[in-house]
Amino acid sequence: MIRRLAVLGVGLIGGSVALALKQAGAVRQVIGYGRDRANLDAARSLGIVDEIADSPEQAVAGADGVLLAMPVGAMAETFVRIAPHLAADALLTDAGSTKQDVIAAARRGLGEQVGRFVPGHPIAGAEKSGALAARADLYAGRNVILTPLPENAAATVAAVADLWRACGARLMEMTAAEHDRVFAAVSHLPHLAAFALVDELASRPQAGLYFRLAGSGFRDFTRIAASSPEMWRDIALANREALAAELDAYVSRLSRLRDALMAGDGQTLFDTFIRASKARGNWAPAGTHLENDE
Ligand code: NAD
Repeated sequence: MIRRLAVLGVGLIGGSVALALKQAGAVRQVIGYGRDRANLDAARSLGIVDEIADSPEQAVAGADGVLLAMPVGAMAETFVRIAPHLAADALLTDAGSTKQDVIAAARRGLGEQVGRFVPGHPIAGAEKSGALAARADLYAGRNVILTPLPENAAATVAAVADLWRACGARLMEMTAAEHDRVFAAVSHLPHLAAFALVDELASRPQAGLYFRLAGSGFRDFTRIAASSPEMWRDIALANREALAAELDAYVSRLSRLRDALMAGDGQTLFDTFIRASKARGNWAPAGTHLENDE
């Protein structure tokens, strides 16, 4: 049981952790800190947080659980600010979508206290943002990946795993480097591709006509282009090398398809489509509801 949980960044992800832990009876009190006062007021009136802090320092003072759930680009400064104010028994985790950059920031900001920080990433989310989008069941049956540090005691990792388990999640562990490589391919690249396609069409003089006529294929391919621009800017920059490698591989695939198209090479198109269609048909998304996967 957590006595006092500080949620830094009370949006979809942080708000859903607070709601899930409250529903499970695994937290007594939640204190929220964020940048947007109207969002925090909404979080309090919805019962997501019980108190609002004026600063991250104030939020973590006396907290025995701390969750960083703001865009990853804002985490470095937060680690520096909270480090001198953490309680001796405080458990510290994050929900950031990239891990190597967050870990580097934690090492710089927390110094010798880094062992109490267990990095995490819930593979659950949506294209919606803010406390109003938070749901108690967001993590039910979903994977949460922990990328523990050599400095973490086994009991600290187990305590953070228990916290996510209380939210209904299943736990996995991997290295931060492997995490960032895999998510560049299966999450960060698809978001870039969706943002690029929508931006391309929106920039055309006849954009209105295109969007009026677009159907379910366009809807499914581009759903994630409605995601938070700030969050995705931070993720892309944080994982730029792995993402650039995935972009190169994708562009080269597209370019091979273009060559086949121009050569009237239907066999290459068909072979590619059949391989992809089989692989996609065999794929079962992790967790229960595909719609809300990150
Ligand atoms: P969100 O926009 O719903 O919430 C983020 C909140 O952080 C906002 O309320 C914002 O005001 C606040 N914030 C911004 N800068 C801050 C700062 N410096 N200090 C404190 N608060 C600040 O976004 P989200 O979807 O909840 O994402 C939060 C984190 O979770 C991000 O790191 C993201 O990469 C990660 N994540 C998102 C998803 C997803 O699908 N949305 C899934 C897994 C992980």
